[in-house]
Amino acid sequence: MRKYLGAALGLALAIGTGGEVLAGDRAAAVDKALPVAREAYQFLHRNPELGKKEFKAHDYLVSRLKALGYTQFVASPSAPTAVIAVLDTGRPGPVVALRAEMDARPLAAGAVEPEGHSPRSEIPGVMHTCGHDVHAAILLAAAALAQENKARFSGKLVFVFQPAEEVAGGADDIVRDGVLDKLGVQKIFAQHVAPGLPVGTITISPGDTLAGSNYFNLTLTGRGSHAAAPQDGDDVILGAMKVAEEISTLPARRIDQANRPMVVSVTRFVADSGASNVIPPKAELSGTIRAFEDLTKAPKDGPALQDVIVARINAVSAAQGLKAEWSLRQASPPTRNDPALFGALLPSLTKAFPGKVDTTPSRGMFSEDFAYYTPHYQALYFGLGVAKDGLGEGGVHTADYTTHPEAFRYGLTLMTLLAQLGTTGDAAWR
Ligand SMILES: [Zn+2]
Ligand SMILES: [Zn+2]
Repeated sequence: MRKYLGAALGLALAIGTGGEVLAGDRAAAVDKALPVAREAYQFLHRNPELGKKEFKAHDYLVSRLKALGYTQFVASPSAPTAVIAVLDTGRPGPVVALRAEMDARPLAAGAVEPEGHSPRSEIPGVMHTCGHDVHAAILLAAAALAQENKARFSGKLVFVFQPAEEVAGGADDIVRDGVLDKLGVQKIFAQHVAPGLPVGTITISPGDTLAGSNYFNLTLTGRGSHAAAPQDGDDVILGAMKVAEEISTLPARRIDQANRPMVVSVTRFVADSGASNVIPPKAELSGTIRAFEDLTKAPKDGPALQDVIVARINAVSAAQGLKAEWSLRQASPPTRNDPALFGALLPSLTKAFPGKVDTTPSRGMFSEDFAYYTPHYQALYFGLGVAKDGLGEGGVHTADYTTHPEAFRYGLTLMTLLAQLGTTGDAAWR
């Protein structure tokens, strides 16, 4: 996920201790499939690839899925490295998708994965710092388990190995291509590693959990001048600073933050006359806006958020004698966990993970591209505990990120259970 620090997962409460995850045959099936996840994790972690370039991961996953007996693969033309495999159980039932990401991230300049990590990235400057290797490895093992235990499921299972979560494209490409619609997908599930959350704990809460993301560009123009005579021009730099300050503080002063939470951050500010004695005629600002609503749509009782922002920009710019040109690009919608699906599955989840399902409502202003699926299909996005014995504590998007090996069992159990509940509505292993 982009800039994800476990906001939705940060209030980790391990409720109670102990308790079998799952007893009997299902636990045995999970144990049997776990080596598939461990082997895939070794390969994927050693060979991290950036978004849209997941060629080795694509080939590895396809060859492993074929070896497991998968024959139905669906291409998504806009996302050529995606691997979408279908398991038709031959019995009537819903079509349920399970999704994992495939892409790694660039490391900061000069950074390397710490020596003590095992496995360790073999590609300079690139590392799986967001745990997508963990997700993909677990999903592959879930595909292995489902194939071997087809009779325990009904309907169809669609395993979505999705590229480019960390960069533009990815989930939105797959949604736009309509491949999941053509397959008749009704429900979709995913999980994300949650640093600091104890191994064995999962988090899930209904409704909006992560914000939608939007990106803006703002160009301010006015009269330049000699730096010694700012009164002869519009002092575009000073005016642009006032605009930047206004839009950054606007949410707390002009919007009802209790009901319409929003963050505006200026992330780029460029104004350069090329000379230290000239005030330039132009400044460019860019940044991001996070909110849980569509910025362009007005609710019943107030203006659209974008209208509030643009009105303030125009007012402050005009007071400085500047002309403002604003453009907005709407990116991912909020990540929304379907309340009805949450309610339907929670009893089985709490039974399967006794005392370890944390439903503490928690929202973050981060965004995640799983959000693109959530307006189209009933969706749930889980947090997976990865912390134990000093591992799984480093934040995602840092070279310190690690995963405790025991997390795989819980992640696989969760995916298996979701596949079963999603297709049969029944948690019993029969
Ligand atoms: Zn990420
Ligand atoms: Zn991520």
